[in-house]
Amino acid sequence: MAGETVVVCRIEHETNTFSSLPTDRAFFADTGLYYGADVVDEFEGTNTDIGGFLRVADEHDWEVVPTVAATATPGGIVTDDALTTFVDAIVDGVEEHDPDGVLLGLHGAMVSEEHRDGDGYILERVREAAGDVPMLATLDLHANVSDRMAAAADGLFGYDTYPHVDIGDTGEEAARALAATFAGDLDPTVVVERAPLLPPLPPLQTAIDPMRSLLDAAAAAESATAPDISVFGGFAYADVAEAGFSVVGVTDRSTADATRETCRELADEAYEQRTGFDRDYTPVGDAVAEAATWDADVEGGPLLLADMADNPGGGSAQDGTVLLEALLDADVEGVAVATLVDAAAVDAAVEAGVGETVSVELGGKVEANGDPLPIEARVRSLSDGTYRNQGPMSTGMQVTFGRTAVLEVDGITVVVGSHRQQPYDPEAFRSQGITPERQRVLVLKSTVHYRAGFEPFVGGIREVDAPGLCSPDLSTFDYEHVPRPLYPLDPDA
Ligand SMILES: [Zn+2]
Repeated sequence: MAGETVVVCRIEHETNTFSSLPTDRAFFADTGLYYGADVVDEFEGTNTDIGGFLRVADEHDWEVVPTVAATATPGGIVTDDALTTFVDAIVDGVEEHDPDGVLLGLHGAMVSEEHRDGDGYILERVREAAGDVPMLATLDLHANVSDRMAAAADGLFGYDTYPHVDIGDTGEEAARALAATFAGDLDPTVVVERAPLLPPLPPLQTAIDPMRSLLDAAAAAESATAPDISVFGGFAYADVAEAGFSVVGVTDRSTADATRETCRELADEAYEQRTGFDRDYTPVGDAVAEAATWDADVEGGPLLLADMADNPGGGSAQDGTVLLEALLDADVEGVAVATLVDAAAVDAAVEAGVGETVSVELGGKVEANGDPLPIEARVRSLSDGTYRNQGPMSTGMQVTFGRTAVLEVDGITVVVGSHRQQPYDPEAFRSQGITPERQRVLVLKSTVHYRAGFEPFVGGIREVDAPGLCSPDLSTFDYEHVPRPLYPLDPDA
């Protein structure tokens, strides 16, 4: 006899409201859009939320109804056309199969044209269709958790790591809570407590304090009646009323008051530790000077320069040229860069062909992140820019940069893709025939996630303060909607 029927889905977008690049259905299709049975084919066995849901579903012999898995690289506001199309696919699945439970993989910082709290909208629409069955969702550590989300869901489970290497575990956690609910051992609900904090991305990494000790304390407070307590750093580049730091508990209704008290204490502790989220970054000039003389043999590996503000994983354009231009101006050689996005430059490289020389104005076309860089480069290789992650994060998941060219200019090798995608896995180089361990200097368009795959073999890491829409200097953004006061925007919050 088959077990319970469970609808499974994923709609994930982290919206940078300062970006001018709209996120439409075509962009989801470019970076990751699957329907029906294709969802299972794509995610089974991967370190992802759906991968985790499916592992537990197998154990319990649930009848899984896969509906939609829509993921787009973070960027500007999501079109209502895209959002309602995906939500309709879930609602259709729920109405057709009348499930016993629903598992959703969400991000928690989606903003659409009409719905500033996109995830609250998704959860309310699915709740309306599903009625009073358990509905549990996973969220990114960078979720801006709203009261509306908490009211609509019976459980919100956050990733406990940044880099996010536990996405699959989080999916399993949510699915195990669903199994406990089916068994009558849990009557879940959500409690949310907040702190007036909105840290930028780099200090939210979970290997270091304050996040390390906050997460340890949250894990120590979990129990059978409070199966998950999550610490959410928030997402500072979504200018919404819900933005900010929160501690969220999934708790049995009978112990909700005690769980809320635990979350309150952790939120207060986070605020006490607020100056721990302040961090120093490396100016471009200092990074280039160090790169010029870096000896990878002596230092135990390449110098990794994180072009952290131009991280598409937080919604940046990924075509910033400030750091690359400075490296070229200083004649630094032995450098490999992943991945700069410029579809026109890729087209020119395809036109010229492998082994030929091409003249392009590279990057700098979308945001105030440097000027287009006139270069003469040799086309080293061309590809479809697609690979599966081999590193610890989202292991096994396919990512694609679209048509991709590797260009060589004055001792610097630049991987140039056609659309935005964060190069956090060493496959970003290896799939292009570049061995990252053998480079003297690596440049990555990534803020923190690269650490999971690259830390094991690099000799040093510098978080370089070049411009971009993920700049950790939040005072450079014009906020209109975030709740004030908030630290560090307001030092006396
Ligand atoms: Zn995240």
